[in-house]
Amino acid sequence: MEPHDSAVSTYDLHTHSTASDGTQSPAELIAQARSLGVRVLALTDHDSIEGLAEAQAAAGDELALVPGVELSVSWEKHTLHVVGLRIDPATPALRAGLQRLQNERLRRARDMAERLDKLGLSGALDGARDLAAGVPNRTHFARWLVAQGHVRDMRRAFKRYLKPGKPAHVAAAWATLDEAVSWIHRAGGQVVFAHPLRYGFTATRLRRALAAFSEAGGDALEVACGTSTGPEVNTAAGHALHFGLLASVGSDYHGPENPWVKLGRVPTLPDNMTPVWRDW
Ligand code: AMP
Ligand code: MN
Ligand code: MN
Ligand code: MN
Repeated sequence: MEPHDSAVSTYDLHTHSTASDGTQSPAELIAQARSLGVRVLALTDHDSIEGLAEAQAAAGDELALVPGVELSVSWEKHTLHVVGLRIDPATPALRAGLQRLQNERLRRARDMAERLDKLGLSGALDGARDLAAGVPNRTHFARWLVAQGHVRDMRRAFKRYLKPGKPAHVAAAWATLDEAVSWIHRAGGQVVFAHPLRYGFTATRLRRALAAFSEAGGDALEVACGTSTGPEVNTAAGHALHFGLLASVGSDYHGPENPWVKLGRVPTLPDNMTPVWRDW
């Protein structure tokens, strides 16, 4: 790939590594981002800060690492994702919160494996564990289902087994919005409402979720992500203006296996947005 490609964004503030469900190690991710010309990269693994030390050690003069995390949040009957940026990973309140979420992930993984077992798909927990560095999440179960030949691809694994309403789906009690905001703020970070148009919410429900997020003290909205179309960026920008939120950008890259999302590839923010990095 062309280094310093003009289509590569200077900022990519939402990415994953093997510390959660990405397929590249933190060091590999940083090396690739640097060679692409990304200048500021946030590592934001699901409910985990385990990759941040390796990422920080791999970052050099050309690339600034933003320590981050993507927290799972339960809001009404839904799961929301909230990204924390510029967090201090040593913060006790954040670490205690993450430990609680990891415990819940382990309980859920066991329950999911039990459900798959009852459906005649045995060995899921060990199988998913082999594909994960820590507690396996739904992505690792999906990869295991594909690897076993139980489904043809990831999309079908979610559609058939893992999505809400499907037989191996297990609800989880994640953080509340207030908790997620407080853990990130106590860690000195900014709180970003992630990928607003990917929850499948109606416009009314999304506005209610954003109102709750603002009310809880949230700082920013991910106006542009790796899958955003131009009209989606404009819609999200309208929400950011309406709720007085700063604007973030992030690819939500998980690795080269997904051809739809590329590291550092995010649409440009509209001119009337105030970027989340304004005061950095
Ligand atoms: P979890 O946090 O364990 O519920 O897993 C959620 C992760 O599953 C997300 O971060 C995505 O990486 C992945 N995911 C969710 N839905 C899909 C889908 N339809 N196809 C592929 N991956 C998905
Ligand atoms: Mn993921
Ligand atoms: Mn997410
Ligand atoms: Mn993500």
